[in-house]
Amino acid sequence: MPEYKQPLDSKMGNEETSIFAVMTNLSNKYDALNFSQGFPNFDISSELIQLVHKYMQYGYNQYAPMGGTPELRKAISEKYKLLYNIEYNPDTEINITAGATQGLYTIITSMIKKDDEVIIFEPAYDSYAPSIRFSGGKVIGCQLKAPDFRIDFDDLKSKITSKTKMIIINSPHNPTGIIISEAEMKALENIIEGTKILLLSDEVYEHLVYDGKKHESACKYPGLINNTFITGSFGKTFHATGWKMGYVLAPANLMEEFRKLHQYVVFTCNTPIQLAIAEHMKDPENYLHLNDFYQRKRDAFIESIKGSRFKPLKCEGTYFQVLDYSDISNEYEMEFAHKLIAEHKIASIPIAPFYKDKVNQNILRFCFAKTEESIQQAGEILKRI
Ligand code: PMP
Ligand code: GLN
Repeated sequence: MPEYKQPLDSKMGNEETSIFAVMTNLSNKYDALNFSQGFPNFDISSELIQLVHKYMQYGYNQYAPMGGTPELRKAISEKYKLLYNIEYNPDTEINITAGATQGLYTIITSMIKKDDEVIIFEPAYDSYAPSIRFSGGKVIGCQLKAPDFRIDFDDLKSKITSKTKMIIINSPHNPTGIIISEAEMKALENIIEGTKILLLSDEVYEHLVYDGKKHESACKYPGLINNTFITGSFGKTFHATGWKMGYVLAPANLMEEFRKLHQYVVFTCNTPIQLAIAEHMKDPENYLHLNDFYQRKRDAFIESIKGSRFKPLKCEGTYFQVLDYSDISNEYEMEFAHKLIAEHKIASIPIAPFYKDKVNQNILRFCFAKTEESIQQAGEILKRI
């Protein structure tokens, strides 16, 4: 086995392993039902698989242009026109990425300089803070608290300084399942409009909004769009998280900066998958009903735990349901989640690691992007605890 024999001058310091990897590994170790990491356990569209196969057989197996295939960028542009009545230029304002994760990392790394301040809302998706730190930026957290997780705008305003370079929002929100309302987006618009502050709007769950509510994309707000990067993920929209395919939208001059880095991070992404997704997106029916599909799963999950001592918090979007276990235990979330896996064979995600200060609220996140059978099984287990 090779081994570096010199003292390691670590750049990464005490960077922890992502909670998603930790919980899925534990789940596998104990052969538990995995409701932790967010991924569907059912098949993806067979038509989409056939399309990928078709493009591979047709010989589309070489590099796509750096920004992504023109077909997919056009399809994304048409979607934004259809859903939000906004025109994004496929050539200059849309870029395909290797999942939203690469989009987020490249946006942050191309924009954030040493000592720049970036405001994030905690609990925050796990990749934001490390990406900011790797660029020498300073993470400024605004806490959202259970059970409602609403933005405290006075707190937000008090944290804006001359060094604030970027604010990161995420709606529908992982891990809590809340969505940002129109009134809240307008409040944000009042803060950002006319300033140099950039907005990074992580909208990977844009199609997963329930109970007749609407997704408030940052692109709909004239006072935001000129300062905004949007990230999207086909992993969520087409149940194919393992394909690692996403996109970034931004005004052309911001996109130009993004591409200066993107070309050296991946240069470009998987060609046949891009072409297949572009063809699949020609029919909006292939993504417009995701909300009904997942709302039924959310409702089935909540129904399946009726009579248990777990209390569901409000889930307005995403495929995550947060459950409060304070009627069962006072243990820390990490310990209780571990116990659920080892003793009851069900895996979830503690919320505390998504806060810098590991705030403990006796709540866990369960991913309900699962088959009807798995959801029933989960309900049976949780009712016994
Ligand atoms: N942002 C959020 C809020 C997410 O939940 C995820 C993944 N679940 C991502 C970004 C990353 O998406 P991708 O898998 O496309 O990299
Ligand atoms: N975003 C997924 C989740 O929230 C996991 C992504 C990952 O494993 N990095 O569970």
